[in-house]
Amino acid sequence: MSKFIFVTGGIVSGIGKGITVASLGLLLKSRGLKVIPVKIDPYLNQDAGTMNPFQHGEVFVTDDGAETDLDLGHYERFIDQNLTQASNFTTGAVYQTVTAQERVGEFLGNTIQIIPHVTDEIKKRIKNASKGVDVVLVEIGGTVGDIEALPFIEAIRQLKQEINPSDFLCIHVVKIDYVYPSDEAKTKPIQQSVQMLRGLGLQPDFLICRCKRPITQEHRNKISLFTSVRQERIIQAIDAGSLYQIPINLEKEKLGTQICQFFGWKNKKVNLSQWQKIIGKIENPKATIRVAMVGKYLHHPDAYLSVVEALKHAAIQNLAKIEIIPVDSEKNNLQAVLKKIDAIVVPGGFGIRGIEGKITAIKYARENKIPFLGLCLGLQCAVIEFGRDVCRLKGANSTEFNPKTKYPIIDYLPEQRHIAKKGGTMRLGQYPAKLKPGSLAARLYFPSLSHVSRLQSIFERHRHRYEVNPKYHQILQKNGLIFSGISPNNFVFSRFARNKKLVEIIELPQKIHPYFIATQAHPEFKSRPNRAHPLFDGLIKTALK
Ligand code: GLN
Repeated sequence: MSKFIFVTGGIVSGIGKGITVASLGLLLKSRGLKVIPVKIDPYLNQDAGTMNPFQHGEVFVTDDGAETDLDLGHYERFIDQNLTQASNFTTGAVYQTVTAQERVGEFLGNTIQIIPHVTDEIKKRIKNASKGVDVVLVEIGGTVGDIEALPFIEAIRQLKQEINPSDFLCIHVVKIDYVYPSDEAKTKPIQQSVQMLRGLGLQPDFLICRCKRPITQEHRNKISLFTSVRQERIIQAIDAGSLYQIPINLEKEKLGTQICQFFGWKNKKVNLSQWQKIIGKIENPKATIRVAMVGKYLHHPDAYLSVVEALKHAAIQNLAKIEIIPVDSEKNNLQAVLKKIDAIVVPGGFGIRGIEGKITAIKYARENKIPFLGLCLGLQCAVIEFGRDVCRLKGANSTEFNPKTKYPIIDYLPEQRHIAKKGGTMRLGQYPAKLKPGSLAARLYFPSLSHVSRLQSIFERHRHRYEVNPKYHQILQKNGLIFSGISPNNFVFSRFARNKKLVEIIELPQKIHPYFIATQAHPEFKSRPNRAHPLFDGLIKTALK
């Protein structure tokens, strides 16, 4: 039987529940346990796909094409495990299932209610996720007290009655409050948040307390007395310099050991040596590097989360300290800003705003031989720039930005034109690409293979509607753009573009430019702190030279 760990948040949002769950997953996996994390999002969207990065941060994509909350990115990076759509569901998805069942007559005669129909569906999803694993780690989005989260908390309360109580553990993530202006630490919000959780029928077994300073014994006594959580299960999480330090800190605070004791697991030895190595590299950089990230969603700190993390991974791998300079593609001072940097990344995005700035930045990178990496929209902008400035197709554009352009160099495929719905209809999830032997891409992805045998396939995750228009393949190539990754013919699991060769990776010859490469995919989703993605690694390596 699997163990169930539920993680709720108290007081305010944004205190690091996602990182806590990711860290806990790592601590358990490092003890040889098989874990699966699940994130529950209490909003009515069916998935994160239609949500604006300005509001919610990036949309993360899994191999199987789920558009998910960004916490899944933390889980994948920390636990080093590819997740599926089973690891994220929303209120919207739960209601959709229940109401669809009602329409086909599954509950015939009954009144459909939140209890038991909605809560049953929630429990079913959690139990399904737990199959074949030692621990299922469930994070409930939002904060206890939100109306939206009530059915989920209720489902968890019920689930406790259905399973062996010793397989059930509840963690509440809270923060010490520091009053203004004395900066005195206060525990009252923690006490009240636990009271609220208790009012809903859940008593936390552990508290994880975010804090600026170590929690005093006096405060620990008080928290324990008011919340009935044992002292040794009150885990302090002091602000850390790097995200990747957090699992090590929580391990020092004995979170993993205490959880094993709770479940009666003896002699589970922990091995965090790989992770220690990462921290060692972060703490001992040999060089500093400045990378410009040219985008428009710069006001939300997490809008480009996976790109930022992938850049950090590459810096860690190359023993460099990285400074990521967010560059607003809607401002006019681009060239001045770009003068002082070592590499340029143009990440993904939607809509016309900021496009011309991205194209200007790419032109600057191409002409000044600045290492450049384009991601999804970044590839599309690089193709537009090349079309306009090298192929002399004046006004070339994507039909996303100018439906009437004379040269629709980026466009829908004919088979996509009938698609009217916005949700879940992009080219999503993992797709293969064949790499061109001898290309920069082939050398980056397969550094150990000999020159001739580099005709290899790769898989990367996608999330886009538009493609390089096949009508322009020839002219682009004739003018010197290399298509170093092409989708293979007849890949069976694609509903798009069967029998069509789509451009997956472009590059400039290395004679002309030291590092100019862009991909239609989102390689940032597959980068890991201990295994930087080859395209990011190549960017940082070249920039360091
Ligand atoms: N807007 C572009 C498209 O839909 C690129 C999307 C992206 O960068 N993820 O094709």
